[in-house]
Amino acid sequence: MKLAAAEIDLSALAHNLCCIKQIAPNAKVMAVLKANAYGHGLVTIAQHLQKADAFAVARIDEALALRAGGITNPIVLLEGFFNASDIPILLANNFQAVIHNEEQLYALEQAKLDAPIATWLKVDTGMHRLGVEPQQLNAFYHRLKNSNNVKQQINLMTHFSCADDTKNTKTTEQIATFARLVDNKQEQVCLANSAGIIGWPKSHGDWIRPGLMLYGVSPMQHQIAHNHGLRPVMKLITRVIAIRRLPANKPVGYGGRWQSNKETILAVVAMGYGDGYPRHAKNGTPVIIKGQRFGIVGSVSMDMITVDIGDNQANIHIGDEVEMWGPNLPVEEVASHADTIPYELLCNVTPRVSYEYLYAKQ
Ligand SMILES: *Cc1c(COP(=O)(O)O)cnc(C)c1O
Repeated sequence: MKLAAAEIDLSALAHNLCCIKQIAPNAKVMAVLKANAYGHGLVTIAQHLQKADAFAVARIDEALALRAGGITNPIVLLEGFFNASDIPILLANNFQAVIHNEEQLYALEQAKLDAPIATWLKVDTGMHRLGVEPQQLNAFYHRLKNSNNVKQQINLMTHFSCADDTKNTKTTEQIATFARLVDNKQEQVCLANSAGIIGWPKSHGDWIRPGLMLYGVSPMQHQIAHNHGLRPVMKLITRVIAIRRLPANKPVGYGGRWQSNKETILAVVAMGYGDGYPRHAKNGTPVIIKGQRFGIVGSVSMDMITVDIGDNQANIHIGDEVEMWGPNLPVEEVASHADTIPYELLCNVTPRVSYEYLYAKQ
């Protein structure tokens, strides 16, 4: 019996990919697997997303780990490469590079390659993080077109800054700017992350780049995955390791951050920030034991959390499973109790947690 486990439901993953294809039926899917597939396990997730048209990662090491794991699908490096010496590695491994600055373009033009590499030219339409300026786009595009080191089809992409908020007009502006820039070019385009896919159908284009929604989590403000027909892939679980009576007005845990004005019962559960559970989760952040919701109380420790089970001690026992997030408790909800976003919670699950993959029925 593992004290801290992440159950990864691969049938939910397959369901979410189907769901994404229904939302954007005409777009090809570039499944985003960066950061260990958002904490779900890079290679296993890739193995179970074979119906995606390509994969995307942030770092060359992540792409090499996919190849080492036997994954042969096209892989896009979302930040391209950083060193001229990376370019032959891209060619040898069939990696596609996002090109977003002059240094990359120059290195690519100067490289001595036996064959061309595939590229995605990224334009900054308002995120102001990566991408060439709109007025630079044509010059970059023509230099790529004229380089023998670059495959002729040059895909065009951009990234949204506020797509999680359907009331924010910034996304409409970004879509319009991008449309104006790519209008005269017969190339494939890619704009939408998960929030674009769900909230902005006009952004679907030739390709989409879902990350978070693949894992069954909503990227939209004030929403949970269930509202979009998605199923959570990760269930983070632990066990009750002690049940204690707490007298009235006795502070609990480090800093004595919480006390009850009446006697109550605490369940101590074997998970903490050492497993990636957020230390900033407030009193009242929900957990589920035996189908019932209870709130955590006091500070989250490295290895343990105290849960106020009130009058329910009769049906809760040492060894009972505790769901910290998962199909019955959206990670979106836990994130909002910890003043963070679900992305961070998923990525932060630590190697101490044992991963158990639940395979889809054939
Ligand atoms: C991470 C990332 C994505 C995926 O974003 P989600 O919100 O997880 O869908 C898409 N595009 C780029 C450039 C990214 O860095």
